[in-house]
Amino acid sequence: MQHGTLSETAAVKSQVVTVIDFTMKKKNILIVGAGFAGSVCARILADQGHSIHIVDKRSHIGGNAYDVHDEHGVLVHPYGPHIFHTNSKRVIEFLSRFTDWRFYEHRVLAQVEGELYPIPINRTTLNKLYKLDLDEKGAERYLDSVRENRDPIKTSEDVVLNSVGHDLGEKFFRGYTRKQWGLDLSELSAGVAARIPTRTNDDDRYFADTYQFMPSEGYGEMFRKMLDHPNISVSLETDFKTVRHLYPDAHVIYTGPVDEYFDHRYGRLPYRSLRFDHQHLPDTAQVQSVGTVNFPNDHAYTRTTEFKHLTGQTHTGTSIVREYPQAEGDPYYPIPRPENEALFKKYAALADQEIDVTFIGRLAQYRYYNMDQVVAAALASATTLGEQLSA
Ligand code: FAD
Ligand code: UDP
Repeated sequence: MQHGTLSETAAVKSQVVTVIDFTMKKKNILIVGAGFAGSVCARILADQGHSIHIVDKRSHIGGNAYDVHDEHGVLVHPYGPHIFHTNSKRVIEFLSRFTDWRFYEHRVLAQVEGELYPIPINRTTLNKLYKLDLDEKGAERYLDSVRENRDPIKTSEDVVLNSVGHDLGEKFFRGYTRKQWGLDLSELSAGVAARIPTRTNDDDRYFADTYQFMPSEGYGEMFRKMLDHPNISVSLETDFKTVRHLYPDAHVIYTGPVDEYFDHRYGRLPYRSLRFDHQHLPDTAQVQSVGTVNFPNDHAYTRTTEFKHLTGQTHTGTSIVREYPQAEGDPYYPIPRPENEALFKKYAALADQEIDVTFIGRLAQYRYYNMDQVVAAALASATTLGEQLSA
């Protein structure tokens, strides 16, 4: 078994030619961040004839969704597993301009007391865990008998107790949540646990969206095509702070952490970070039966993902990643709880006053957005902005 941190792998080698084109057309727009938010905005505005320059402090495009072949030739996601799913026709149609798709429905098992169970909790989970033989109606009745009515539903604890009750909550949710966020279920807004449905049938897919696909040549390739436009130039390993003065008249689209933009004037917005432990197992075709195994109560890591399930790649070896949540490090997750949302509102009020800056994306809007939600937000925002700038 071979271990490697992100910086040690070949994973983050830039494959983008950096071109700085200062000959601006129509309106100059500086975009901070080449993730989904920045790249979608870039393409929409470039198509409208505006001249776009993107800076990203990392050595690659794609933000957290970036993927790359590791040194063993397995396509991996350096920043943790990214599975694309959406109900939005507009989003899938837009991205389809830059990629073909591979059908993929993600499945997750949770290890509880040494056994693996489907998560989201479904009829199979109940029958296996409690040695029952419930049909769908029976599963409904079972859940009705164990759930604790909560009204109003404010916290993630309310969500869990209201849907599956104490025992399932303890086995599948409380430990995972404590590990992932460093907080109790009762300290997190309802939206966190509400991401995970409860089912009384046998559907064992993690997501139920209409469109569930992975980009057939990977996210990196999709981003390269999105940014391949004569009006778009990209500078990698470039921090906004160091180049801002070069663009005094440009409109700025900022996709980094909003509190950082304002030099943490009201204090730091809390974000949760992760350490990714990437491993390659040579001569092992497959280590687990599904894409991800969750560990709600065991280990310091939350989950193990085996990339070949996601990508469909054939390889004699396999590559996995384990996610270790931590307080310090790159900001990966906004932490949804009332006091953080209140602090964000203060930054949002400052952001509203920045006429020549658009704040968009998971970090800039401090929202627990999935990729498709960022794409939808960027499409809407860039379309409106383009019309305003052209007026
Ligand atoms: P980012 O991808 O974070 O991009 C922001 C970019 O801005 C970064 O590249 C950063 O380097 C750059 N930047 C920041 N500050 C500066 C600066 N000062 N100067 C220059 N550059 C700067 N979503 C799903 O739909 N499905 C999933 O399965 C899924 N899995 C996930 C797993 C993990 C572990 C994580 C952390 C997220 C996951 N997501 C998933 C969410 C997904 O990653 C985000 O919704 C999406 O990538 C956000 O895009 P973004 O452009 O807003 O931000
Ligand atoms: N969750 C849990 N047990 C699980 C899976 C999820 O308690 O087995 C809770 C946990 O609080 C987690 C949240 O549900 O942070 C959202 O899970 P999701 O898989 O959507 O998280 P992400 O993929 O965004 O890290």
